[in-house]
Amino acid sequence: MNIHEYQAKALFEKFGVPVPKGAAAKTTAELNAALASLPEGPTMVKSQIHAGGRGKGTFTDGFKGGVKFCKTKADARETAGKMLNNTLVTIQTGPAGRKVQTIYFTVASDIKKEYYLAILLDRASSKPVIVASTEGGVEIEKVAHDTPEKIHKIVVDPAYGLADFQVRELIFKLGFTGNEAKNAGKLIRNLYTMYWETDAAMVEVNPLITTPAGDVLALDGKVSFDDNALFRHPEIAALRDLNEEDSKEIEASKYSLSYIALDGNIACLVNGAGLAMSTMDIIQHFGGTPANFLDVGGGASKDQVIAAFKIILGDKNVKGILVNIFGGIMDCNVIATGIVAAVKEVGLQLPLVVRLEGNNVAAGKATLAASGLKLVSGDTMADAAQKIVKLVAA
Ligand code: GDP
Ligand code: MG
Repeated sequence: MNIHEYQAKALFEKFGVPVPKGAAAKTTAELNAALASLPEGPTMVKSQIHAGGRGKGTFTDGFKGGVKFCKTKADARETAGKMLNNTLVTIQTGPAGRKVQTIYFTVASDIKKEYYLAILLDRASSKPVIVASTEGGVEIEKVAHDTPEKIHKIVVDPAYGLADFQVRELIFKLGFTGNEAKNAGKLIRNLYTMYWETDAAMVEVNPLITTPAGDVLALDGKVSFDDNALFRHPEIAALRDLNEEDSKEIEASKYSLSYIALDGNIACLVNGAGLAMSTMDIIQHFGGTPANFLDVGGGASKDQVIAAFKIILGDKNVKGILVNIFGGIMDCNVIATGIVAAVKEVGLQLPLVVRLEGNNVAAGKATLAASGLKLVSGDTMADAAQKIVKLVAA
């Protein structure tokens, strides 16, 4: 789960990571109240969407910049009015962009230098890794590609936690001295504590800045959490913003279905993530394009199958459906019963190919045959995939 910058910064503050003073607003009325809580002077206006590259983004009406520096609060008020409810396109949003439904104002900081700092799980070593660079503010991918020697990594042993010598090593590599070194060290330690205690998947601060006064601040914040640990953090789960998520994926998560929307036209309904991936591959192999990844899990119920069909049909690009079930734990007849009920309930008009194999398959096939529904049965995975690709192309 991802959260907005303003929410990330509230967490930073709670864990002792310094941030500029700020206030968020979701409505025009709230814009004034938010600004009233900040001192007069240079103010940043920041569009809150779950995507980076906002500063360099452009709104669909041509207005440039989703993060803007304003000299006065009056300027900030006017700029915010142009951003709120406008659609921002950045390199990370795709061409459709994202509607800005929250504005965050911050007191503008004087920047001496911009740095990059992130903590994430390193899958190779299965340990948290701190990634830092003196080349902050810009795209870190570009720095990693062009000048990899400027990216520093510290792997933390989770059994011991972040050691002081590791913090000192990082401070040295980033070139901090004196008061800055002291402040940066404290910030890195506190950020690591936050990463660890909130079960974060990633905490990214780009840029981390130093000011002429010697302060070290997190100027931007991107935080995502491990969904599997959210039950331990109800106060973090409450930060979820459904406006930022695909409505079909939200519906799917209510029924514990793993669903990811894609841009093809053949919907797949499959049990098991591995089978779902190979089903997508085989559709592609025979010249089709999958419309989604949908794993109904090891023990799908009739209600889940009905929900799955409804979600699939909510996607207007879908021109046909392939059901591919391997009954290991799953009873094929439960799936067959679910399919029959779902097809009747949603009044399916699209071509449907079903391939069932495994546990209680004879009963499952009998249920489908007895239903009188117009569906095509596939004998093998390849046969089923070829059939749906042909039907959709017809
Ligand atoms: P992003 O474009 O989505 O990564 O949004 P950021 O919050 O990182 O802002 C983009 C850029 O705006 C930063 O890299 C900074 O260079 C600049 N910026 C953000 N906040 C301030 C500020 O308080 N003062 C100044 N001078 N520049 C800022
Ligand atoms: Mg940034």
